[in-house]
Amino acid sequence: MTTSKSIWTLFVEGLKATRLTPASEEMSESATATENIPPIEIAIATPSVAANEMTAAIIAPQSETPENIASTLERSEMTKFKLEYIWLDGYTPTPNLRGKTQIKEFYEFPTLEQLPLWGFDGSSTMQAEGHSSDCVLKPVAVYPDPARTNGALVMCEVMMPDGVTPHASNKRATILDDSGAWFGFEQEYFFYKDGRPLGFPENGYPAPQGPYYTGVGYKNVGDVARKIVEEHLDLCLAAGINHEGINAEVAKGQWEFQIFGKGSKKAADEMWMARYLMLRLTEKYGIDIEFHCKPLGDTDWNGSGMHANFSTTYLRETGGKDYFERLMAAFEKNLHDHIAVYGPDNHLRLTGKHETAPWNKFSYGVADRGASIRVPHSFVKNGYRGYLEDRRPNSQGDPYQIASQILKTISSVPFAVSGSSSAAA
Ligand code: ADP
Ligand code: MN
Ligand code: MN
Ligand code: MN
Repeated sequence: MTTSKSIWTLFVEGLKATRLTPASEEMSESATATENIPPIEIAIATPSVAANEMTAAIIAPQSETPENIASTLERSEMTKFKLEYIWLDGYTPTPNLRGKTQIKEFYEFPTLEQLPLWGFDGSSTMQAEGHSSDCVLKPVAVYPDPARTNGALVMCEVMMPDGVTPHASNKRATILDDSGAWFGFEQEYFFYKDGRPLGFPENGYPAPQGPYYTGVGYKNVGDVARKIVEEHLDLCLAAGINHEGINAEVAKGQWEFQIFGKGSKKAADEMWMARYLMLRLTEKYGIDIEFHCKPLGDTDWNGSGMHANFSTTYLRETGGKDYFERLMAAFEKNLHDHIAVYGPDNHLRLTGKHETAPWNKFSYGVADRGASIRVPHSFVKNGYRGYLEDRRPNSQGDPYQIASQILKTISSVPFAVSGSSSAAA
């Protein structure tokens, strides 16, 4: 007794055999895809009715010849997807997002494994010399693109021409693998129009800071910012990005959103993708995103950060005061390595004013928003277990480099020090 699937498979193979065109790439693609066709229940009313006839009637009621049926089948099953390959260029100190589209056919929304490597001209992105300019794009995460019909957003790592060696600009490749590492990034940024924060008058300043943080009403947030942040939120959620919230920030024209992810690279991937979606969205509004950490300089206007909240399995489940204190000592020792990747010009922002700690002095404190690392109340209450907030990374920082350095420092701290309590036994 044949199953409905094998009837289907035989049918499709039969059609292929009768095709007049020579075997081509298209043929072999179709052949592979045939194996992926899901079982389709074909109700065979009487054994005397040929399965082929039945199926032909279902699939292509107006196409009689096997030729026509085969092409109708391929047309109806394959979809042309718009794949936006997105990567970070080689600019320093902060990379820029780049993206280009290729069209590929799939039976359904592609999985990461189905997405091919691709290339680009690295000489135009500070990633290669002109005479040998090929760089390779390796897909590492894929999201539905809610703004495009049949669109996919493909986050990529940049590789050397061999396809396996990470390019020097590829900082994602430096992040330690740890599925138990969780990050929550709070992205602050300014909307900019005509070279100044959205809502600032052409000359001078708006009313001083105070009512804008989490504010409501035209005089506080204007008439377009909220529309954009809501649209951005919907785009992120539809793409499967773990966007966690929004708030209007302290300065006029300044906003924040949060992204949280479990796994050492997940939140960073999604933060870059969320930044991409924001930058692409605001094109049509004629508005730019200013990621600089202190766009209004040494004034009474806040700068922008990207607080990095982090935890590991050990911090959440075991922790303890001793481990916590050794961890903080390691953060203090590695101060300069952290500041080096926490975003450019951070000395302009980490001044000790506006809820910041001076950039060159490490500190931590319970519920202290003026410390380098804020220790939530709940962390201490739960026996020094939970997550910590590094408040130093800035809005322009690369979440890949930030996650990489934080995990590097954490990994340098042993869970338990030999020679303590148990050594006495
Ligand atoms: P605040 O503005 O008070 O600093 P937010 O709510 O803006 O707080 O951001 C807190 C962030 O901490 C969120 O992104 C959240 O996902 C993240 N977070 C919460 N719990 C953990 C955890 N266990 N590990 C890592 N990040 C966490
Ligand atoms: Mn916040
Ligand atoms: Mn904030
Ligand atoms: Mn915060």
